[in-house]
Amino acid sequence: MTETSKGPAIVWFREDLRLEDNPALAAAAECPGGIIALYVLDEETEGLRSLGGASRWWLHHSLNALCGALRDKGVRLVLRRGKVTETVLDAAREAGAAQVHWNRRYSPGEIESDKAAKQALKDAGIETVSHPGNLLIEPWQIETGNGDPYKVFTPFWKAARQKGWRTDLIPAPKSLTCAAGDMDSEELEDWDLLPGAPEPDWAKEFGDIWQPGESGARERLKSFLDGGIDGYANLRDRPDRENTSRLSPHLRFGEITPHTIASAVSQARDAGDVSERDADKFLSEVGWREFSYNLLYNFPKLPQENLQSKFDGFPWKDDADGLKAWRKGMTGYPIVDAGMRELWRLGTMHNRVRMIVASFLIKDLMIHWREGEAWFWDTLVDADHANNAASWQWVAGSGADAAPFFRIFNPILQGEKHDPKGDYVRMFVPELAGLPDKYIHKPWEAPGDVLDKAGITLGQTYPQRIVDHAKARDRALSAFKSLGKGD
Ligand SMILES: Cc1cc2nc3c(=O)[nH]c(=O)nc-3n(C[C@H](O)[C@H](O)[C@H](O)COP(=O)(O)OP(=O)(O)OC[C@H]3O[C@@H](n4cnc5c(N)ncnc54)[C@H](O)[C@@H]3O)c2cc1C
Repeated sequence: MTETSKGPAIVWFREDLRLEDNPALAAAAECPGGIIALYVLDEETEGLRSLGGASRWWLHHSLNALCGALRDKGVRLVLRRGKVTETVLDAAREAGAAQVHWNRRYSPGEIESDKAAKQALKDAGIETVSHPGNLLIEPWQIETGNGDPYKVFTPFWKAARQKGWRTDLIPAPKSLTCAAGDMDSEELEDWDLLPGAPEPDWAKEFGDIWQPGESGARERLKSFLDGGIDGYANLRDRPDRENTSRLSPHLRFGEITPHTIASAVSQARDAGDVSERDADKFLSEVGWREFSYNLLYNFPKLPQENLQSKFDGFPWKDDADGLKAWRKGMTGYPIVDAGMRELWRLGTMHNRVRMIVASFLIKDLMIHWREGEAWFWDTLVDADHANNAASWQWVAGSGADAAPFFRIFNPILQGEKHDPKGDYVRMFVPELAGLPDKYIHKPWEAPGDVLDKAGITLGQTYPQRIVDHAKARDRALSAFKSLGKGD
């Protein structure tokens, strides 16, 4: 044993802000020299994507919750800001640490930065141990019979289920020994992660529906299994109902693992509390997250470049007014506007509506999917390296196992089908609340007296449509036909 190997272990928290089922923490907790819990905010390293505003809000509250949970175990969370490699190395040297443990991350910038940290620590004689913590199956563990990455979801998920994953959940350590001594820590409040003056507090309603942190994640899973999951397979497409889990930001920040979720759902299914169909459908959605990470790992340019290169020649429009109307929820299409306003108010949007608004941006407005991806990155509390990019490319038709470009969502029919009484629209576009159901998804068809009675003047109290969907659809299809074959 070398001198340094007697020192404490650092557990470097990143996208795993939890105590339960945390392999890195469990391993560090075994260290006889005690542990140092460290979180580093890196807004400087090139290649690491800075968090968007809504994610920063989440991170603030999630770190606060983690601080509290660690404090209950007698451990102080050391907060530092700076380039990760240097900051972790400094902290490790300062503490005389023997080891640094972390759970892996999978976006290209994070992989590069972790490699650099590993090398720097190794050069300093400090052992590093990375753990598989946030995915059911590591991306390099699943490939087709030819050794290629999967590009189609169904065979991918079949192979994943056949392979199986860890089902023994790791309990939170019973006790921990803090070795941080008098190590300096910055104050979370000083990180300015929350919106503050002179900015308006755009996150003021987030707390109404979200409880960031591990206990919030557990409660969310419990309440979902206590009823929300009933009918999931049929009702998950209905934004006017609460039939999805809303676990995505908790997964994004690693406050709960997919293993915990999969085990709880399987147990509920085996006990007969959840139907086979609902359980399988729900788990397959968790599988889409695995698939997206698999794609990102194998195609690291996924957030920037079309997976199908033929889309490189697509004649995207530079339409600042259209983009502004879309972002603000002022397109004149109620289901699109409801979704974009839900996003702004609550930092989330129902999955079906994400598909509708994305299709509208890409196909009706012919604005590059990257603009949409960037806006979602900034405004979603669950903004995710893999899920966001893969989903935008899915809607664009440029991705893997994607919806074909020519399948263009009709925002009126989609609204009528998935929000049949217009409850969702009325919740987020209150100026249309007085319209009869018949016109709620197409106010421009309402007769003058109906609009008058509802207190609506199109173009004043609610926008006129910024494009005519039928014409926009034709325009998009001819642009698509102009593309070459490509791959
Ligand atoms: C344009 C677009 C952008 C998206 N951006 C993101 C994003 O940044 N972050 C994100 O987590 N999801 C994203 N999604 C996927 C999906 O909309 C959300 O995961 C889902 O709405 C989250 O709600 P939920 O937790 O209630 O989902 P549930 O229906 O309860 O599903 C359970 C979990 O499965 C995963 N999941 C569900 N659907 C998908 C999907 N289509 N692809 C990948 N994983 C899925 C999520 O982790 C989710 O929490 C995007 C979808 C679209 C169409």
